Amino acid sequence: MKITPTIKISMKGEIKMFLYVWFFILGTIVGCIFQLCMDRLPLGLNVIKGQIFCFHCFHPLRWFDLVPIISYILSKGRCRYCQCRISLRYPIFELLSGLLLVFMVYHVTPLEKACLLYLLIMDFTILTIIDLEWQIIPDFTLWLEAILTIGLVFYIDVPFKERIIGMFIISLPMFLMNQWFIESFGGGDIKLMFISGFLLGYIHILLAFCIAVIAGGIYAGVLMIQKKANRHSYIAFGGFLCLGILISLFYGDLILSFYGL
Ligand SMILES: [Zn+2]
Repeated sequence: MKITPTIKISMKGEIKMFLYVWFFILGTIVGCIFQLCMDRLPLGLNVIKGQIFCFHCFHPLRWFDLVPIISYILSKGRCRYCQCRISLRYPIFELLSGLLLVFMVYHVTPLEKACLLYLLIMDFTILTIIDLEWQIIPDFTLWLEAILTIGLVFYIDVPFKERIIGMFIISLPMFLMNQWFIESFGGGDIKLMFISGFLLGYIHILLAFCIAVIAGGIYAGVLMIQKKANRHSYIAFGGFLCLGILISLFYGDLILSFYGL
């Protein structure tokens, strides 16, 4: 997949600057929404409907408590109602989300593709964090990936037949392994590879899986050396799969050409 500079050069500097500031603000708002998803999904709370509240005192939060970064600074990192400390993770996540959107809009063309890829990275980020903290992959993150995949199909040139093979080439063996060896993979991991196989096609999804196995293996090895895990420990694999999928999506062609494939 090619990444080339976007935003017309003929555009005046100030307008360009204004656009990037606008995308940064938009990115922080999207980051705030994804963060709400990250807090609410594992608890089974609806992310679209339902009151947003402080997880410490359960006081309902108003819109001005949720303004990305600014609310945190104005409230000095504390809940306005119970004074409990709010994790620094929130403003940092929002800041990075804003910067990521600007980066994607700058480097990827057309704009629609940049936005879809940005949302996919955000989706994978919360999927990874939820999987690490709760050992679950919420269906919401997978549905979102499926919707984004439908949009991205128009920008990623892979023959339809290869996409269909890609859906099953990893997910089916994973599913069968789950039948033979009890719960070797989570159901979420299998669904993730099923959807991503359609997104990438079978060659790139195989590469994604190899990268995930290598990265997950190194991580498990380090944990075992540190005696924080043993052969029977559960390792949240979702994040490594996401990492493999993103590397394969952005640099797959480069890696494959390096090996003469
Ligand atoms: Zn509170």
